[in-house]
Amino acid sequence: MNVEYVSTRDNSDRVTASQAILRGLAPDGGLYVPTQIPKLDRTLDELAAMDYKQVAYEVMKLMLTDFTEDELKACINGAYDSKFDTPEIAPLTFADDVYYLELYHGKTIAFKDMALSILPYLMTTSAKKNNIKNDIVILTATSGDTGKAALAGFADVPGTKIIVFFPKDGVSDIQKKQMVTQTGDNTFVVGINGNFDQAQTGVKQMFNDTELAKELDNAGFQFSSANSINIGRLVPQIVYYVYAYTRLVREEKIHAGEKINVTVPTGNFGNILACYYAKQMGLPVDRLICASNENKVLFDFFTTGTYDRNRPFHLTSSPSMDILISSNLERLIYRIAGYDDKKDSEFMKELSNDGKYTITPEMKEKLADFYGNFADQQETKDEIKRVFDDTGYVLDPHTAVASAVYQKFLKDTDDGKPVVIASTASPYKFTRTVMQAIGHDDPSKSDLELTDDLAEVSGMRIPQAIEEIKTAPVRHKTTCEVDEMPEVVKKFLGI
Ligand SMILES: *Cc1c(COP(=O)(O)O)cnc(C)c1O
Repeated sequence: MNVEYVSTRDNSDRVTASQAILRGLAPDGGLYVPTQIPKLDRTLDELAAMDYKQVAYEVMKLMLTDFTEDELKACINGAYDSKFDTPEIAPLTFADDVYYLELYHGKTIAFKDMALSILPYLMTTSAKKNNIKNDIVILTATSGDTGKAALAGFADVPGTKIIVFFPKDGVSDIQKKQMVTQTGDNTFVVGINGNFDQAQTGVKQMFNDTELAKELDNAGFQFSSANSINIGRLVPQIVYYVYAYTRLVREEKIHAGEKINVTVPTGNFGNILACYYAKQMGLPVDRLICASNENKVLFDFFTTGTYDRNRPFHLTSSPSMDILISSNLERLIYRIAGYDDKKDSEFMKELSNDGKYTITPEMKEKLADFYGNFADQQETKDEIKRVFDDTGYVLDPHTAVASAVYQKFLKDTDDGKPVVIASTASPYKFTRTVMQAIGHDDPSKSDLELTDDLAEVSGMRIPQAIEEIKTAPVRHKTTCEVDEMPEVVKKFLGI
């Protein structure tokens, strides 16, 4: 079966998977979606006998049909290797009567590594397939986590360069240290004298600058984006749900075909959408439990059918979920609108003009797979403490939001099916919040110093990613003004 991709806002234009990966966003501003979602063509028992890379191949081959077997396997082998600190890649831990799917064993100890470790390979392979001779230059503005995961993914990948701009005084100490110590001759990290929005705007202007694009092309370069709406990030995320389910089959915790529920701490709606796609592919998932923090725009949407971003923005202890526009939700809207690009465009226009839209009752009926709820900051801290006191297992604040929401789901529905909770970050990335929650904070210590204390009370080994930044030399010292960003890029590229 040949799967092509269309924009959610104009489905007359069909592109291949590799073209969609190169473009990222569709030219009309829509998101690329597959024209059909293929069914798994291996049985769950067959998949249960495979390792992570083999499962990755069996899932991704169905969605990226213009990649050859050799191409796709080379991408997978390049991505899921000893960069991960366990050969299982995404291990399941049973604690508190649930299965935590640990997606934080990659280089930057957060779940973005699952997709950003393979995206560079998918992108360079896509470039080759489409006869693009230029080197790909990834431009990213970051408020912290995505920049580091993209840097780690693209570092030393032949045929690519990556340039990350971050607000010089607007990221945490651990985040800054992670970025400025990044190795790799093709990496470049720049602190700007401005905030995240200014960095983001500066990057967008460079993407839209046709003069600059020409100069780059003459020198053998072209820009691309590692943004989370790229299908090259979405497809690899389907894999770990299939992997998790089939591990439960392999360990005889469930029988093949038995339904499970899945809980996902959600921000941009990418991770949970990947699980929804896994379900469409035939994975026996029943409810998708969408967990939000105090920025509970998705909970309100699932409850009322109205998506409304007009509300105060809360900075919380789970910053990667502090989002009021969940970009990937557009892919679900398109689907429940009956693959209607006109309708989807109208909703998105309303969102950009009025900050809100309301779906029809027929569309809302199609959301029965989802259950939405939220946990506030106190509930999140209480959940970290409860799980730690009961089991000794330590959750990061994002995973704790999911865990707390799952407890609400249990109360509301009495649905006791086996459940997998996506665990999206290591507690070592958020030591302050975690130590405060479990009653071991020491205000005289830095976040980094607290990692030793966390190791002591939890017995969990300190991840390599943390050990490294304790001693790693600073390699990136460039700073610039916002209006100097294009000059800085050209200088790095030698043009
Ligand atoms: C990005 C992120 C999320 C949110 O995932 P989405 O795919 O944006 O919904 C949750 N937790 C952590 C730690 C993240 O980095």
